[in-house]
Amino acid sequence: MTYFAPEPDHITQIRSQIQKYVRKHLPRERRLALDRDATWDRDLFRGIAEMGLIGLTIPEAYGGAGQDIVAATAVIEELCQVGTSLAGPYIHAAFYGGMNLSENGSEAQKQAFLPRLARGELFLCYGLSEPNVGGDLASVETRANRDGDDIIINGAKRWCTGADWSDYIYCLVRSGPKGERYKNLSFLLIPTDTPGITMQPIEHSNLRYTRSMDVYFDNVRLPADAVVGGPDNWNKGWETLAGRALDVEKIEITAVAFGIARAAVDEAWSYAQTREQFGKPISQHQAIRHKLSTARTKLQAARHMLYHGAWLADTGQPCSVETSMAKLFVADTGVEIAMACQQVMGAYGLSDAYDMERHVRDLLSMPIVGGSSDMQRNNLASLMRL
Ligand SMILES: Cc1cc2nc3c(=O)[nH]c(=O)nc-3n(C[C@H](O)[C@H](O)[C@H](O)COP(=O)(O)OP(=O)(O)OC[C@H]3O[C@@H](n4cnc5c(N)ncnc54)[C@H](O)[C@@H]3O)c2cc1C
Repeated sequence: MTYFAPEPDHITQIRSQIQKYVRKHLPRERRLALDRDATWDRDLFRGIAEMGLIGLTIPEAYGGAGQDIVAATAVIEELCQVGTSLAGPYIHAAFYGGMNLSENGSEAQKQAFLPRLARGELFLCYGLSEPNVGGDLASVETRANRDGDDIIINGAKRWCTGADWSDYIYCLVRSGPKGERYKNLSFLLIPTDTPGITMQPIEHSNLRYTRSMDVYFDNVRLPADAVVGGPDNWNKGWETLAGRALDVEKIEITAVAFGIARAAVDEAWSYAQTREQFGKPISQHQAIRHKLSTARTKLQAARHMLYHGAWLADTGQPCSVETSMAKLFVADTGVEIAMACQQVMGAYGLSDAYDMERHVRDLLSMPIVGGSSDMQRNNLASLMRL
């Protein structure tokens, strides 16, 4: 196992390219406005696509830059320094789309989707959760039935984030009788403009690069080649979910938690050096020094877990345990970091004069989304045969 290595030059260059771009185009007022409106800026995102960064999850044969999971992780970390308004759409294109279809798509789907995803022309959203289904994905109720060469879909998805602007829903459905768990499930690629689909927004306070949606399917008809991996993958949904793409999915959401936690520590650190109380910068008061030193230490531990998981996934090594541990540790530690940093900034950590209140809102969601901390604990206990 490699324990320590300098960051490869190309990743350091990507970081500095992104930093220059967001510094120029996403000043604080713009970040605040996007968060208030729960939206993102397509023109601004085009610049990220033009840097070739979406292609970091897509093989060169399909128009990508070649899979480089460590570099794609660093992209998310850097984009998160200004919130989720660029990191969110990046994940929809590079991970929900590029990574999943590179791993699980049929040859025809790879050729049709991956080059367009790499160019930033196509976005996918996730249709996993339902009104009665959260962590227990094996119990999804949205039905897909075969009708000759077609598939008919009925049911509802909840928290389908970005369904109102995404092109396709990467959707988990029940495609046979509800009997044995993990059986009779399929993944479908459902175009969001198919007749029979309606949507209703859900208001929420975190990850406001977009709104999340309730999506309803009323006799939605699709051809059988909408099955992810092709018609032969009918009823193989759990196998599709549980592969390498899931390990990388855990890394991707961990990168969001880490990126936002880093932004929170940086903001509180510099605030503490300029805010004076009792005749000196508050960074000279021991309670503040301890909070910030502890936050940086936790951040460093989080960094090691995140990039170790990313490196294992990138080099094709088994990493279900390490990626679950990283998701669990970084999401939970991110909340502790957020709480400490907000306290350092006193009232200003609650006001919209700084990014801190947004960092806190976003970090609070990290132990819930992308497989909750409790679900990671359950997975780890099973994986390690407790
Ligand atoms: C902003 C936002 C965006 C989202 N975007 C998407 C999206 O794009 N697509 C999508 O499909 N979903 C999305 N989600 C949904 C998210 O994935 C779910 O919230 C998550 O899976 C948890 O489900 P739940 O909230 O229904 O909690 P539940 O599953 O109802 O769990 C409630 C609590 O009980 C705990 N719990 C449940 N079962 C167990 C158990 N067996 N052992 C121990 N503890 C347990 C959980 O950890 C949690 O603390 C989003 C959510 C939010 C807030």
